[in-house]
Order: sequence, then structure tokens, then C-alpha cells
Amino acid sequence: MMSALLYLYLTTAAQGTLERFDLRPFPAIVLRDASNMKRGEIARAVLFESGREEIWVSRSALDNPSLSDAMDHEGSHLRAWREHGPGIDEHGPEWRRICRASAANPAKACRSIW
Ligand SMILES: [Zn+2]
Repeated sequence: MMSALLYLYLTTAAQGTLERFDLRPFPAIVLRDASNMKRGEIARAVLFESGREEIWVSRSALDNPSLSDAMDHEGSHLRAWREHGPGIDEHGPEWRRICRASAANPAKACRSIW
């Protein structure tokens, strides 16, 4: 069960990313246990072959102060895939340009490691 405060924190971060990257429709947000995520991973953009988009968010990172930057990072992947297709390099020039142009804090959100 997610507390109202964490829910507000998550939806505020998602709303900001939606607006900054014009991600309409916004991908489904899926809360994942830490065991489903890489060590230290806050969020992950997922694009299925069907075209379905999801942003996985680690339950253990819901109160992480970097959640908003992580959401921008993942949102920039989805925006880059929408514009350039799924074959581009994960942290290549297309992604970097989009991230730097729209992230609230590019220096944090647009690092290629999370
Ligand atoms: Zn990335």
C-alpha cells in the first residue's frame, strides 16, 4: 500500500515529465519491487514489441529525492523512441539531445548511468 504522500510525490514527478517531454499519452507507471530492478536503479523505461510503453519505478525509490530526475531520464528515452524508433543507441545522440533540451535538471537527468 502506497502512502498518500508517496503517491503525490510520484504523480507530481510524472506530471512534470509528461509536460516537459510532451508525452501524451503518458506511459503506464508500474511499481516494481527492488528485486525486479538493477541495484540502485530508481526507474526504467520499457518499450514492448507491441508498442506498449511503461515506466517501471522501484517501490524502494519512491521517496528518493532523485525520483523526478529519474522520471525525466526515462521520459526522454520514450520521447526519443517515439521520434527516432527503438533502434537508436540507448544513450546516443538522439536521446541526449532530447534529454538536454527538456529535462528540468539536465546535468542530473541526462547522465547515461542511473
Ligand atoms: Zn537511460
